[in-house]
Amino acid sequence: MTLTLELNAVTRSYGRIKAVDGISFSAGPGEVIALVGHNGAGKTTLMKLMLGLARPSAGSIAVLGQDPAAGDAAVRRRLGYLPETVSFHPALTGRETLRFYARLKRGRPGEEGALLERLGLTHAADRRIGTYSKGMRQRLGLAQAMIGTPAVLLLDEPTTGLDPELRQQFYVIVREMRAAGATVLLSSHALNELEGHIDRVVILNRGHKIADGSLDALRHIARLPARLRLRTAQGGAQDLRAWMGETARFRHVNGDIVEFDATPGDKAAFLRRLATAGAPFEDIDIVPPGFDELYAHFLGEEASR
Ligand code: ATP
Repeated sequence: MTLTLELNAVTRSYGRIKAVDGISFSAGPGEVIALVGHNGAGKTTLMKLMLGLARPSAGSIAVLGQDPAAGDAAVRRRLGYLPETVSFHPALTGRETLRFYARLKRGRPGEEGALLERLGLTHAADRRIGTYSKGMRQRLGLAQAMIGTPAVLLLDEPTTGLDPELRQQFYVIVREMRAAGATVLLSSHALNELEGHIDRVVILNRGHKIADGSLDALRHIARLPARLRLRTAQGGAQDLRAWMGETARFRHVNGDIVEFDATPGDKAAFLRRLATAGAPFEDIDIVPPGFDELYAHFLGEEASR
């Protein structure tokens, strides 16, 4: 497989601050990767390095097989970028703005109309951007990033300012871009919404990469407990507790619901026990550790080193 992104021990320093410190990773076509980390972890700097807007202080970086800072216009046109803060000229309309970017990136003639339609902005296409809401500007930013069907799409906090319905639409678009073979790298603070929409996550902390893998793989490494939530007959929480034995690590959610944490190892044993006749519960939910919990786990591990 040809790699679209290749970072080899990349460091970028600003004075004494190492915004990015010895990061290596690679990605191929059709991969959707989330870049997550606290404020100042180095996410935006990493994207700027991939765009050739900053140069590494050490290490090497290749995007679509080329050094992005070398200024090869043909490669640059195959990159799409949504900056963290989108800012367009307020006096231009959405259509004029997209037409301008389409000319710069040599997009297909009339592409702006199709993109405005796809992002649900046709009704506002000929209005000045100064009259757009934050979510509309964010959608226009995404349309701008998608001009020319990019092979690599770098999206810095793309769902900020989008309402829940638009967030879902955004992930549908990401899926379509992936199906078309694009590599999509998106940074986000909204961790739990990423579940089911990404192939891989790269966790950064103070410029370092501290985890890299699919959510399943990271769950496997972290071995965090799942939450088993049991609903009993009315007021039956005490009965369930007695049935399980005093050693069970129950938390009472309310009079009918209790929950406890089960590691991957003891989950099966608990379930077997619960499946026996006479177990005093009516319903069960198994909640795997959320992305927020995984993230906190890896940050905690890093802090304890
Ligand atoms: P956020 O989630 O807040 O957007 P981020 O993960 O994108 O944060 P970066 O913007 O990459 O973080 O910043 C990483 C570190 O590098 C921060 O400490 C920041 O202050 C520093 N930094 C980034 N750009 C510059 C610059 N041009 N000059 C000096 N320091 C910089």
